[in-house]
Amino acid sequence: MKNVVVLGCGFAGMETALWLRRMDAGDMNISVIDKSDSMVYTPSLIWLPPRRRELEDISIKIGPVLNKLGINFYHDEAVVVDAENNAVSLASGNELKYDYLVIAAGWRSKSGHIKGNENILFPCDFPDVLKLTRIIGKMDGGSITVAIEGERPGPGAEYLGWIDVYLREKGIRDKFELNLAEEKHRLLIHLGREACDLVTANFEQRGIHLYLGKNLIAARPGVAILKGDVEVPSDVICAVGKLEAPELLQGLEFSAKDGFIPVNDDLSSEAYANIYVPGDACSYGRKNVPKVAHIAMEQGQIAARNIHADISGGEKKTFDAGRAFENLYILPDLGEITVLARGYKTIRVGRSLSALKEGLEKYYLFTHRHGIPWHLEQLVEIA
Ligand SMILES: Cc1cc2nc3c(=O)[nH]c(=O)nc-3n(C[C@H](O)[C@H](O)[C@H](O)COP(=O)(O)OP(=O)(O)OC[C@H]3O[C@@H](n4cnc5c(N)ncnc54)[C@H](O)[C@@H]3O)c2cc1C
Repeated sequence: MKNVVVLGCGFAGMETALWLRRMDAGDMNISVIDKSDSMVYTPSLIWLPPRRRELEDISIKIGPVLNKLGINFYHDEAVVVDAENNAVSLASGNELKYDYLVIAAGWRSKSGHIKGNENILFPCDFPDVLKLTRIIGKMDGGSITVAIEGERPGPGAEYLGWIDVYLREKGIRDKFELNLAEEKHRLLIHLGREACDLVTANFEQRGIHLYLGKNLIAARPGVAILKGDVEVPSDVICAVGKLEAPELLQGLEFSAKDGFIPVNDDLSSEAYANIYVPGDACSYGRKNVPKVAHIAMEQGQIAARNIHADISGGEKKTFDAGRAFENLYILPDLGEITVLARGYKTIRVGRSLSALKEGLEKYYLFTHRHGIPWHLEQLVEIA
């Protein structure tokens, strides 16, 4: 019997655990660790501030789903990975020994590069999106600035687009100034030229002030300071987009300088053949693989298959980092306008696409609440 420990139960860890169980021929003892007792469907976080969703609507209680499948769940924080001795220590004092370790610990928002970051909310992180939701709900006027930059700017524009819709519905939009600062000179260019132009025109028509080519340098109470010393009065300042590795990964002797873990094409760590790293936690060095949910899920499935191959024999599968951008689908919903893009090219723009985003959410939550993993390859072929 081999002990397989999965550290982190987000998109990648959940998929790995469910696929491991499916492939298991009775020779694996599977344990999952997460510091949170719930997995959150993050693409729907943008609907929290406009009250389209509550956090529970988009969360999956991990323990009941995994326990039903005979997978052990530790609601605990991993504090040390001792790769030499194949052991993970937990904050509770427990230690888990493993034959195979899956590190699927994901990412967190980067904040240290902005001066005065105590005056900023980072709504890609759960406590801050809840705080933003509470604040927006209480405001009856003022100014809100969202600054987007880095690897994951999309949700920032989605948050602001939906805050605009919410304030209109409440009949108080005219009492607000909404500002969007983007470090690039074109808004959301990664959606493709056509979508980028349509979104820019839509935001301007909605009275959202755009500061293009201006990233957020610093913040003090009531003021966002953008590149070029542009001061924007802001009662609420949010920053979205720059990522860094979680604390645990930053301290590992086998992670790269930025904290993410270098992997081979089969997703095993370059340093330890019995450690696999799917999802946002992995690094392909100079090949810049996008950190998105469906790639995390695909990698989770590959990691599970390769651990199964290590234990029971069979062919290993590789992740094609070179084609990751070509196969990258994004579906941001910006309130009045929704975009489907693939490989940074616009496929379609239209309000009806919002139903597709909601459909994916419902399908993910339904299947995973029932412990059913996705056949990602089939879905991508259908798309
Ligand atoms: C607002 C928002 C919108 C997004 N929209 C989209 C979208 O539309 N489409 C898309 O594809 N992607 C989207 N993403 C990106 C997507 O959420 C990530 O790519 C995805 O979460 C990566 O999955 P992961 O499993 O690698 O990491 P995560 O989902 O971050 O999971 C990591 C898990 O590890 C746990 N963990 C970390 N450290 C420890 C520790 N020391 N001990 C125990 N547990 C630990 C965490 O609690 C977490 O559950 C969005 C992200 C945000 C924030």
